[in-house]
Amino acid sequence: MRSLTCIVCPIGCSLSVAEGSPGDDGAATLSITGNHCHRGAVYAQEEIHAPKRVVTATCGIRFQEPDEGSGRNRSSWAPQRVPVKTVIPCPKEKVAELLVDIYNLRLTLPVRGGDMVIPNWQGTGIDVIAVRSVG
Ligand code: SF4
Repeated sequence: MRSLTCIVCPIGCSLSVAEGSPGDDGAATLSITGNHCHRGAVYAQEEIHAPKRVVTATCGIRFQEPDEGSGRNRSSWAPQRVPVKTVIPCPKEKVAELLVDIYNLRLTLPVRGGDMVIPNWQGTGIDVIAVRSVG
């Protein structure tokens, strides 16, 4: 028996998941209780068999020219990182690999909220976008 909290809506139902014997496809059949709607059952199935997460992180910024006229470099006053997130959830086992690519990225300012910073990461269909405008 496994306990999960459904994160599909703010109600946050407490789910109990019991694994039965494997079916024809080799995956264990699941008995799910505690969900107030069908989406909770779908969430529990996915969480047990193929968990995914929306990934949020920050990217570095590529600084270059001094800020014209002021004599100071942008890095002395601009935010040092750009917040980013995946548009769709990423398979949990690939999250660490995706984070390495995000942390290795250096963005050139300005960046606008919604700008694509990594399109179709590794052909998975996962896009990474900027969450807010910087620069
Ligand atoms: S089971 Fe349905 S009602 Fe309960 S938290 Fe999940 S989505 Fe919301």
